[in-house]
Amino acid sequence: MTTTAITAHVLGEAGFAEGTVLVEGNRITAVASSPVDQGALRSRAAEHIDAAGCWLIPGLIDVHAHGYATLLRGTENSMPLELWALYTVLYGGAYDAAAMRAAILLGAAERIRAGITGWIDHSPMVHLAEAALAAHAESGLRVCWAAFLHDISDYTLMDLKLPPAVARLAGGTPPFDADRYAQRFGEFVQADKPDRVAVMLGPNAPQRCSPAAWALWRGLRDRHGVGVHTHLMETRIQAAIGARWPDGLVAEMERQGLLDSGLSVAHGIWLTQPERAVLARHGVTLAHNPASNLMLGSGILPLAESRAAGLTVALGTDSANTGGRHDLFEAMRLAMMLPRVSGLAYADWPNARDVLDMATRHGAAVLGRRDALGRIAPGQLADLVLVRRDAASTLALASTEAALVQHGSPDAVVSVMADGSWLMRDRRIVAFDEAAAISAAVEAIAGLKERTGTAVGAVAAAIPHVAEQLRRFQSPHA
Ligand SMILES: [Zn+2]
Repeated sequence: MTTTAITAHVLGEAGFAEGTVLVEGNRITAVASSPVDQGALRSRAAEHIDAAGCWLIPGLIDVHAHGYATLLRGTENSMPLELWALYTVLYGGAYDAAAMRAAILLGAAERIRAGITGWIDHSPMVHLAEAALAAHAESGLRVCWAAFLHDISDYTLMDLKLPPAVARLAGGTPPFDADRYAQRFGEFVQADKPDRVAVMLGPNAPQRCSPAAWALWRGLRDRHGVGVHTHLMETRIQAAIGARWPDGLVAEMERQGLLDSGLSVAHGIWLTQPERAVLARHGVTLAHNPASNLMLGSGILPLAESRAAGLTVALGTDSANTGGRHDLFEAMRLAMMLPRVSGLAYADWPNARDVLDMATRHGAAVLGRRDALGRIAPGQLADLVLVRRDAASTLALASTEAALVQHGSPDAVVSVMADGSWLMRDRRIVAFDEAAAISAAVEAIAGLKERTGTAVGAVAAAIPHVAEQLRRFQSPHA
């Protein structure tokens, strides 16, 4: 078992203080602050890392993202979700196993460099599960891979007429075979993989599931004891669709037995306050994706209301082709600043500590590791990040959470450990060959371009026609 002592400004319950942390195997086993105790810990370690010029923080946790989309940077994202989705589904259909592996490792390199040690990959490509799980194992990161489940297309829910060519490419009802899905899901759960890679159920969204799919959701969750991750109330249109159930979609989810503490929901912008309270009562956690929500014009999460309802709120970066960078420093800053448009009511403003908690211990709760991850304390899993506090961009009068959150960035991340193993040391990724991962991504992107070819033009041509049909949702009674 390897033993490592790290001396730095360590994040504790009361903020940053000079200290030494002992890591044995994949756990933090001791934290010391007095010079004598720090010396004792250093003498117990095979290796001592003197990082006095760094902050040591728990690894950041990105609780909502779609791993495949890392290859889709720079594609269309100047339109609302319901139109944007036509593009991403089109590109998604062109993936093969090599593209999936390349996307995941490219995103892993970006995340490691940004101090992210854990994340949820909400994956629409269940048929490429083996490639995805193998890439996640290779990445060194802590990952919950959540397999999509749905049997109703958004275009059916919105009663949209798509041109046949586009319907075939991007909008068709997904084929669904419950027995086949259950068998495959059992295989993913049983698959040989490291402890840090877990499988979750990832229903696309509750309204995109029929009662039969809801039954499968409940059944597989209970049979395998897995967590569940889903989209919920991301856009105004989804809120209009949710209102079709007699007491609303969340009440229906409660009736269907879909709400429990293993469920996390992404977005939740358009939930009503009573719906937030229902989710909180069942221990459901919320993934807030501020960059993606702004980019797609989905809205701004009422964060104060969500927290007041008792929801545990964590942070996500969503798709690379919506939210942009897989950068939780950016997400923390947005989460901290967006509620401040309220003006003078500053008592409700989240502070740096609040958003840092969202990116660490609340993220751990979403990963199902509420008590084992997200803090620097004895017994916690060793997911740790060293961030320079003596760089031109970070040197601060006060070594505080505010300094870290407002001035930290991927550029300041020096070294990253997940599950007790180094993924990056002194800015060199050691978990896998980063240059080879980038080369593989270059090749995969060329393949995607070739396979999507003229179809992108067909989607673009259909957009005005589809946008026209969406106009009726601008009425609150649609
Ligand atoms: Zn999403």
